[in-house]
Amino acid sequence: MKTIKTAIIFLAGILFIACNNNDQKENTAAKKDSTTMPSPKTDSVKYTALMVENAKDPTCGMPVGAGIEDTLHYKNKIIGFCSKECKDEFVKNAPKSFAAVEWKK
Ligand SMILES: [Zn+2]
Repeated sequence: MKTIKTAIIFLAGILFIACNNNDQKENTAAKKDSTTMPSPKTDSVKYTALMVENAKDPTCGMPVGAGIEDTLHYKNKIIGFCSKECKDEFVKNAPKSFAAVEWKK
C-alpha cells in the first residue's frame, strides 16, 4: 500500500512539473509576441551618414556625419539633411540645389 501512495505522489509531482512547464512555454510565447510587436521606437530610427550619398547638407553645409534628420530621394540619389527645414529649402529649387550637392568621394 505504501508503494502505491508513493507512486501517486510521484505521478502527481510529474504532472505538476508538466503543468509548470506548459505555463512557462506559454509565458515565453507571450513574451516573444510582445517583442515582435512593432514598438513606437522603431518609427524614430535615426538616419546615419552611411545611408546617404551626399557629404554635406546641401542647404546649410553641415557635414552629414554630424547628424541627419531627414532624407530625400532625388534622381536616384539619397540626400541627407540636418533638418526638415533644410530639406524643404532644397526641394524649393531642387534642380539647382542638386547640381551644387557635394557628394561623398
Ligand atoms: Zn542643414
